[in-house]
Amino acid sequence: MTQKEFAGRTALVTGGSRGIGRAICVRLARAGAWVAVNYAANPDAAAETLELITAEGGSGGLFQADVSSFEATGAMYDAIEAERGTVDLLVTNAGIASFDDNADMNADVWRQILSVNLDGTFHSVWRAKERMLAQEYGRIVCISSINGIAPSRIRRDRLIAYGTSKSAVISFARSCAMALGPAIRVNCVAPGLIDTDMTKDMSEEMRERIIASTPAGRTGKPEDVAELTYFLLSDAADFVTGQTYVTSGGLVTLP
Ligand code: NAD
Repeated sequence: MTQKEFAGRTALVTGGSRGIGRAICVRLARAGAWVAVNYAANPDAAAETLELITAEGGSGGLFQADVSSFEATGAMYDAIEAERGTVDLLVTNAGIASFDDNADMNADVWRQILSVNLDGTFHSVWRAKERMLAQEYGRIVCISSINGIAPSRIRRDRLIAYGTSKSAVISFARSCAMALGPAIRVNCVAPGLIDTDMTKDMSEEMRERIIASTPAGRTGKPEDVAELTYFLLSDAADFVTGQTYVTSGGLVTLP
């Protein structure tokens, strides 16, 4: 039998209890990684992710932490390292969004979104990097968004804080790729509209407008993001670092 790509590797996926994070956990488990499923507040949902991992013939563990806290993120790493040693593969996926009108945005909403999406990414990468550097191996994918590449023209009255946080994630990942290579590769995935709990309350009219502007003619699935994330973590992407890859069915195209 051929060896699985990530056999013997430990992966951490933040926000792994549902949606895109869950699909990534399952994909990495299928590739042989032992998967640390981070969750913030819903152990039952995280346990369902672990069941899906087990159904793939994989294994992993559940690790609670609010990644907007550096201390809590550090304690989570302590627990993973005590059980498994170094985190080899990191996916910073935990994120929140506000789809309220920008007129309703205030300093509290701004801080909340930046603290999870940007600070949370920083906390996870910063805690991971020393041990990755010491072992001269680390692979990181940060989940950004097409809103981090360009502000939405379809929903241009919304998403200022979210778009800002996701642009900053791209910039952070690029800087980390420069600073941490060659031992560590760091890339971003920027999804378009993906059907998850985050986007389920979108109006049908808005969804149809987005699909009408999407060459692929559909919204995305969490698995679309998981496949790209898997690729960027794999050895097939060994010469790829500091990049942002869009998975949006063509809704957004990079020059
Ligand atoms: P989701 O709301 O279903 O999942 C987000 C996950 O992050 C949840 O498991 C949640 O518990 C976790 N999380 C939130 N705050 C956290 C915290 N402080 N600490 C730890 N975990 C926390 O949303 P999703 O659509 O699966 O989104 C996953 C990622 O993909 C997010 O970063 C999101 O911004 C990004 N994204 C989503 C879409 C989309 O259309 N769904 C598009 C572009 C980017």
